[in-house]
Amino acid sequence: MTTTPVQPSAGGEASPSSVHDARERRAALALPYTRVDDVFVDGAWIPARAAGRNPVTDPATGEVWGEVPDGSAEDVDAAVHAARHAFDAGPWPRLSPSERAAYLLRIADEIESRAEDLALTNTRENGSPITETRGAAANAAGIFRYFATLAEYLEREDVRPFPFAPGQESVVRRDPVGVCALIAPWNFPINLVVIKLAPALLAGCTVVIKPASPTPLSIRFIVDAVAAAGVPAGVVNLVTGSGRMGDLLVKHRGVDKVAFTGSTPVGRRIAAACGELLRPVTLELGGKSSAIVLPDADLDAMSKVLIRSSMRNTGQTCYISTRVLAPASRYREVVDMAGAVIAAAPQGDPLDPATVFGPNATKSQFETVLGYVESGLAEGARAVTGGRAASLGGGLEDGYFVEPTVFADVIPSMRVAREEIFGPVLTILKYDDASPSRGVDEAVALANNTEFGLGGLVFSADPEAALAVADRVDTGSIGINFFASNHSAPFGGRHDSGLGTEYGIEGLGAYLTYKSIHRKAG
Ligand code: NAP
Ligand code: MG
Repeated sequence: MTTTPVQPSAGGEASPSSVHDARERRAALALPYTRVDDVFVDGAWIPARAAGRNPVTDPATGEVWGEVPDGSAEDVDAAVHAARHAFDAGPWPRLSPSERAAYLLRIADEIESRAEDLALTNTRENGSPITETRGAAANAAGIFRYFATLAEYLEREDVRPFPFAPGQESVVRRDPVGVCALIAPWNFPINLVVIKLAPALLAGCTVVIKPASPTPLSIRFIVDAVAAAGVPAGVVNLVTGSGRMGDLLVKHRGVDKVAFTGSTPVGRRIAAACGELLRPVTLELGGKSSAIVLPDADLDAMSKVLIRSSMRNTGQTCYISTRVLAPASRYREVVDMAGAVIAAAPQGDPLDPATVFGPNATKSQFETVLGYVESGLAEGARAVTGGRAASLGGGLEDGYFVEPTVFADVIPSMRVAREEIFGPVLTILKYDDASPSRGVDEAVALANNTEFGLGGLVFSADPEAALAVADRVDTGSIGINFFASNHSAPFGGRHDSGLGTEYGIEGLGAYLTYKSIHRKAG
C-alpha cells in the first residue's frame, strides 16, 4: 500500500482571477488525485487494516478526486488501543497542564504553517468558499492558544473547607476523563474537531478522531501539526470510515467519553448508547434559530451581517438564524432588503475568492435541500429570489448547487419554518407589532416555538430592549446585531440541539472528572 501526501503545496495565489472555468482553475492549482491508504495510530501514519476505500468528491464539479480507507473494526481497535495505552501508561496525562499548554502553542504554530493547503483541501472536500476555509487554520490556532491559557486554571490549588465542620477540608482534583472519541460532521471539518481536541489535550486526555465521510482529508493537516509539535505517540489517533465505524467507536470498551457534533437523530442514537454504558457524552446537534427584527432595527446594518449570521457557509452552519421574524410594519422592507442582499451575492466555484455561495457539500444534501425548497413552494411560500437548483456553467454543471433562496410569506406551520434545512434557504415570517409589547411577546413565542435551542439574533437600535429580548429566547447562545462564537464563552444547544457545552472553562470541564480528597486540615 502506498501513502500519498494529501496535497503538495499549491504555492502562490489560489485562484487566478483570469480563470473562469472550474476545471482550468483546478489544473492551474495543480490539485492532484489524492489516494490515501493510511490512518494515524500510535504516533505514525500506518496502513489501514481495512481493504475498502471511500471516495472523496468535489461538490462543485461532482468529480471524485480522492479516496481514503473505509475503516474496519480492526482499525477502530488499533486506534482505541493506542489511545488507551497512551492514557494508562504514557507521559501525556502525567505532564503538568503548563507542559501540555506548551505543546498546544506549538500545535497552533504548526497549524498556521499549513493554512493554505488545509484551505484548498477543505474547500475541495465540502465546497465551503475558500474565503471561509482560509480562516480555518487561524481559527483553529486561536482555539489551541485560548485553551493553553487555561493551564493556570487547572493548576490552581483547590482546597475547600467543610462548611460546618471546622478542622476538615477537601482537596479537589481535576483529572482528565480518559480516552475520548471525537466524532465530527462535514460542514466545518476543522473547527468542529479542534473545539474538542484542544480542551481534551489540555485536560490530559487521549483521543481517537473520526471525521465525517465527505471530509476525511483536511483534518490530516491538524494531525500532522500535532505530530510535528512532538505530542507523544498514541495521544491523538485518526481513523476514517463510515457512520458504522463511528458507532463501533462510541461503544468501544476502551473509550471513556464521547464528544459528537452532527445531526439530532444520530446524536440521539449516540446518547442512547452512552446512557446504557453510563459513558459521559457531549452532543452539539442541529438548530433552527431565529433572527428577531425589532421595529427600530437598522436594516442597513443588518444587511451587512445577514449572510454571515443567517446563511454562513451556504447555509450549512448549525447556529445561523435561518428564520427571520420581521414586524408587520416593516415586513416588506425586510423582505426587499434580504432578497436584494442574497440575490447580489455571487454563487460559483468555491475555489474562486469572489464566491459567497458555493455548492451544497454532498449530493444527498443537495437533494434534501431541493426537497425543502419544493415543499416551501408547495405550501405557499413565495420565493423572492432563488427557488430551484442553480444551473451554472464553467465546469460547474455537475456540481450540487441550489440557488440561494429567500422565502417570504412563510407561516410557522410550514416545514421550511420548522425543520433544519442546512442549505442556502432563508425564511421570513411576520409578527404583529400593532401593539409594541404584544409584538415582542409574539416574536419571542415564535422564536421559541421549535424543538431546537441553539442560536439566534436580535436586531435593534436599543441595546437594553435587545438584551431583554435576548434573555427571553430559549437558546444556548444569541447575538445582538451580529453573531459570532467566542472561544471563552460557552457554546451549546438546549433541547434537541444538544447536551453540554464547548468553548470556555465549561467546555474544558467536559474533559475533566473530579476527585475530592478529604482530610483533616493541617
Ligand atoms: P451526521 O450524519 O449526524 O454525522 C455526523 C458524524 O457522525 C459523521 O462523522 C458521521 O459519519 C457520524 N455518524 C453517523 N452515524 C453514526 C452513528 N450511528 N454512530 C456514530 N457516528 C455516526 O451529521 P452530518 O450530516 O455530518 O452533519 C450535519 C448536521 O450536523 C446538521 O444537522 C447540523 O446541524 C449538525 N451540526 C451541529 C453543530 C453544532 O455545533 N451544534 C455544528 C455543525 C453541524 P459519516 O459521515 O461517515 O456518516
Ligand atoms: Mg450524514
